[in-house]
Amino acid sequence: MKRGRLFILSGPAGAGKGTLRNILFGELDDLAYSVSHTTRKMRPGEAEGRDYHYVSRDEFGKMVKSNEFLEWAEVHGDCYGTAKSGVERVLGEGRDIVLEIDVDGCRQVKEIEPGAVMIFITAPSIDELENRLKGRGTETPEQMDVRLRDAAAEMKRAAEYDRVIVNDDVGRASRELVETIKSYRKAGRRCK
Ligand code: 5GP
Repeated sequence: MKRGRLFILSGPAGAGKGTLRNILFGELDDLAYSVSHTTRKMRPGEAEGRDYHYVSRDEFGKMVKSNEFLEWAEVHGDCYGTAKSGVERVLGEGRDIVLEIDVDGCRQVKEIEPGAVMIFITAPSIDELENRLKGRGTETPEQMDVRLRDAAAEMKRAAEYDRVIVNDDVGRASRELVETIKSYRKAGRRCK
């Protein structure tokens, strides 16, 4: 059986990755989502196993030591990682999988799986990111400061990606994301 394809979505906080991902999953079948592990606290409205697997720093550290992560990184002061087992199972079944991970994690995955398709989602400007982060109100002012500070560095790494999507309009950007994934599926790029 042919292995599935790995699609990575990255981009700064406030770019609209979550919104575009939800639209993507509504439009395309046969696409799995990799639920990451994190030491970050659960936000109101989030659910264990759907948004993340929430673990303590101790548990996360044990998983790192026992080599359970495909990639992991410290992002905005918390640890986030992709468990190898889930990704391996989906790819082995010949199904495609989407990872939503940061720029450092993306680089790690690309080394292991050069066939992974890396898509960077961004907003038209840092000011726009700030407006969106304020608007969604899910972060404390301190968390927002950290995310905005990190955004400038993250945006500089857009050139490392296969495709950059500027989320200036959700309808247009989501169509671009869906079409990008469809075109890579057609081209037959697969993981080794
Ligand atoms: P948030 O706390 O807003 O859900 O996510 C913060 C950042 O962590 C986002 O940039 C998100 O893409 C990244 N992230 C989420 N899961 C993972 C993961 O498993 N690995 C890595 N490297 N980054 C992740």
